Order: sequence, then structure tokens, then C-alpha cells
Amino acid sequence: MHADEITRARIYRNAGPSHLHRGFSLVELLAVVLILAVLAAVAVPLYMNTRKTSAARACKANIAAISAAESAYALRNGCYNTVANLVGQPEGLSSSLKCPLDNSATYKVATTQGGSTDISATTTVTVYINCPNAASHSAVLTSYATTDWQVSMSAVTTDSLP
Ligand SMILES: [Zn+2]
Repeated sequence: MHADEITRARIYRNAGPSHLHRGFSLVELLAVVLILAVLAAVAVPLYMNTRKTSAARACKANIAAISAAESAYALRNGCYNTVANLVGQPEGLSSSLKCPLDNSATYKVATTQGGSTDISATTTVTVYINCPNAASHSAVLTSYATTDWQVSMSAVTTDSLP
């Protein structure tokens, strides 16, 4: 074998296997981290927005369920009651519903639209079923107004009773 070939063979032998076991360079690691960061920057806001949108829709369904329960309760009792007091009633709710956005905000049955104070006792006047997160809901579901999460129940009159 020629001296040059021997030298080249040694270089390849030294460069080959040791190169394979070298692992990743700092630049390669930074490139991977950068790609993951870009993906996260796109995916996380999309996920958050989807979560808020679905919570807003589920919240509207909750309000519709409370509204139906209030109507049925009013037919039997001639008055409206708080959401907590509808739980366990024959025509009421099986459990106290909470806004799906944070799973902690409770619906308020108030005498004012958007009011955050529950009625103190049964009442026959016009009440509003309010979600405390109404503003957040209409911010993500822009085709709806805040008032879509502040539904009114008309006053109970003797005419509306059977
Ligand atoms: Zn809500």
C-alpha cells in the first residue's frame, strides 16, 4: 500500500466511527429548540382560543338549562329561585352548574342584567341569569353580545300560572 493511502485510511478510520458517537452539536440542539419554540408559539394560542370558544358555547347551553329549570320551577311554585336552590328540585338541576371557562364561577340569578348578586329570596319580578364571565365569552365568540350570557326571565304573573 502506498504511504498516502495508509495515511488517508487512518484519517477515515479515526474520523468515521468517532464522528457517529459524537452526539449533537450545540447548533443542532439550538435548531431543534427553535423549531419546537415556533411550533409551541403557534399551537398554544390556538389551543387556548379553542378552549375558550368551546367554554363559551357550553356556557350558553348551561344558561339554557337553568332557564328551562327556572321556568318549570316557576310554574309549580309561582316564583323564581337561585341556581343553588334549584338543585334537587323535581323540575330543577341535578347539580349546581358552573361556568365551563374556569369551572368555578357560579351563575347568578339577579334582578339586574349582569348583576353579580343573587336574589336573596324567591321572587316573581323579572330576573336575569348571569354568567360572571359574559364579557370573556363575547370576546371570543364575537358574533354574540355580552347579553347572550345574561338571559332574562320575564316576571311571573298569575296569568302565566296554570
Ligand atoms: Zn360562562
